[in-house]
Amino acid sequence: MKPQLNETHDAALRSWVSSANTGNTDFPLQNLPYGVFRRRGSEQPFRLGVAIGEQILDLVAARVAGIFSALENQAFDRAILSDSLNGLMNLPPAVWSSLRLTLSRALRDGATQQAALASCLLAQLDAEYTLPAQIGDYTDFYTSLHHATAVGKLFRPDNPLLPNYKWVPIGYHGRASSIAVSGQEFRRPLGQTMPPGASAPVFGPAKRMDYEMEIGIFIGNGNALGEAIAINDAEQHVFGLCLLNDWSARDMQAWEYQPLGPFLAKNFASTISPWVVTLDALAPYRKAWSRDTADPQPLPYLESNDLRDSGAFDIELEVLLQTEKMRSEGMPPQRLSLSNFSHSYWTVAQLVTHHTVNGCNLRAGDLLGSGTQSGPLPEEAGSLLELTEGGKKPINLANGEQRVFIADGDRIIMRGWAQKAGSARIGFGEVSGTLLPARAL
Ligand code: CA
Repeated sequence: MKPQLNETHDAALRSWVSSANTGNTDFPLQNLPYGVFRRRGSEQPFRLGVAIGEQILDLVAARVAGIFSALENQAFDRAILSDSLNGLMNLPPAVWSSLRLTLSRALRDGATQQAALASCLLAQLDAEYTLPAQIGDYTDFYTSLHHATAVGKLFRPDNPLLPNYKWVPIGYHGRASSIAVSGQEFRRPLGQTMPPGASAPVFGPAKRMDYEMEIGIFIGNGNALGEAIAINDAEQHVFGLCLLNDWSARDMQAWEYQPLGPFLAKNFASTISPWVVTLDALAPYRKAWSRDTADPQPLPYLESNDLRDSGAFDIELEVLLQTEKMRSEGMPPQRLSLSNFSHSYWTVAQLVTHHTVNGCNLRAGDLLGSGTQSGPLPEEAGSLLELTEGGKKPINLANGEQRVFIADGDRIIMRGWAQKAGSARIGFGEVSGTLLPARAL
């Protein structure tokens, strides 16, 4: 199905929440992403919210105020009163669209609900977040040809891109238990590595710590075991997208990844943004998807006209670093790279369809990682491994510090946004995480 535009995308819409109308907020009225929050430092239960400007609309309070009366039934009420988005993700896409329309109308300038909803807001500065969904399963893909080629060159100089890459969306089953929301702090992992030229591995803290800038894809309603999701239905099963940092220990990865793929190099921490931006909200920023005519074209089950017409997402993706020294001196984070999700070799719909083509069942709240989103230019690389050419070319920071990989105390911040002439600018907020020193041996 092609993405549809409707009144909720109108760039002229303004909200009675004035901070939504600045033109450069991530959360104008045209966005309306979902998250799970509570008042910072409180013992209140976590609850569903929608970001609007610098505020959060509390959906539980909004329900009490009566704005969802036309939508209410048992499943909807259970979904809204939950402490995760899984219930909402599991409702039909038509309900997602109705809820978006209801929220859009209630938050508009002049809405009759303004008086009732004004007391249902909490400033984002006063909020803390938890994971937006209970993530049952996590699969990480490898959809950037530029990343796969650059990393392949470092790991296998004679054979960078394996012959299956251009036929199969490559992925592996990751670990859901260590995924946390933005603000995650975690210790440098311990593990086995094989030093260059050594004949036996050593055990100790990983030395080549890296990030991977990815898009996270939250599955909405899933599919029954044994059934596949056809390419033209795939986006009906996607609730929305978030930012994902897939932290990676490159020296552990190089030693362990053959023959079964990444394991302990990847499963000690992964961090996602608190806000899930719906596919509805992203409809204006879709682009044609194409495949180089010199490359193999997708097999028929991964091919469709809608994909060619609008299968890609034009989302800018930025990575920033703030070292401990920068924080102590009050300096802002420094940009390391800027890329775009539209460079992806495979689309969101192809990932969903390929994942289920053998009958594997996806469930509401499952998370798919896009894989590191590196663009064609060197400065568009989505990991330090690529930016420093395997650790050989240090990055000189503005304050005189240098980095080849992540140092203890470093904070990595990722941001994402979409903008287009004639449409509002919308954003994902940010995902940040901080590396702590390894635990004692
Ligand atoms: Ca990854």
